[in-house]
Amino acid sequence: MITIALSKGRIFEETLPLLAAAGITPNEDPESSRKLIIGTNRDDVRLIIVRASDVPTYVQYGAADLGVAGKDVLLEHGGAGLYQPLDLEIAKCRLMVAVQNGFDYEGAVKQGARLRVATKYTQCAREHFAAKGVHVDLIKLYGSMELAPLVGLADAIVDLVSTGGTLKANNLVAVEHIREISSRLVVNQAALKLKHDRIQPIIDTFTATVQARQ
Ligand code: ATP
Ligand code: MG
Repeated sequence: MITIALSKGRIFEETLPLLAAAGITPNEDPESSRKLIIGTNRDDVRLIIVRASDVPTYVQYGAADLGVAGKDVLLEHGGAGLYQPLDLEIAKCRLMVAVQNGFDYEGAVKQGARLRVATKYTQCAREHFAAKGVHVDLIKLYGSMELAPLVGLADAIVDLVSTGGTLKANNLVAVEHIREISSRLVVNQAALKLKHDRIQPIIDTFTATVQARQ
């Protein structure tokens, strides 16, 4: 059995065409089904539906052979035990620093002020501000980061931005670009050896499909 870990939403949606290219069609839609294990048209392939940030963990421990995870999630996880053969170029967005409209971020940085930064991405944020030599107090959040500056929890947030619509709707502005984010294929290293004959063709088909799009 080959087990592929995916998260609901954009990653599932954008992975579907890649699976289709590899001849894999899910039997159910995770958005409407409550099942966490979803069979496919292939007896030897199943999907498991997990939280986006849990995908690397399932693959690391071999509970899934393959998975699709955002680079943001992989950077926070650290990537131990994971082979990352391919950038799938899906779920693209940017990791950015944002502040409330009117907050003088550049001024605060120039003055050497200590900034309070709320984020789910504490690892990436710590590295980013350390490299800039900016002192920060990081506040770990698990979601709705946009709220933090509006209610005085933080001066700035580090969050993913795609269209900027959510920032705009909450009177925030992006002030710094940290890095581009897209989702990667991740593979359990032991599984790749033990099930090479079935996993490698999936990697090859995904690779060819992604290349054909560029
Ligand atoms: P949850 O929403 O359950 O708290 P999550 O926010 O980690 O979890 P998603 O919102 O589905 O899950 O995001 C999954 C992945 O998609 C992220 O890890 C990131 O790589 C990417 N992503 C997140 N936000 C965007 C966005 N606005 N545009 C494009 N890709 C995004
Ligand atoms: Mg989300």
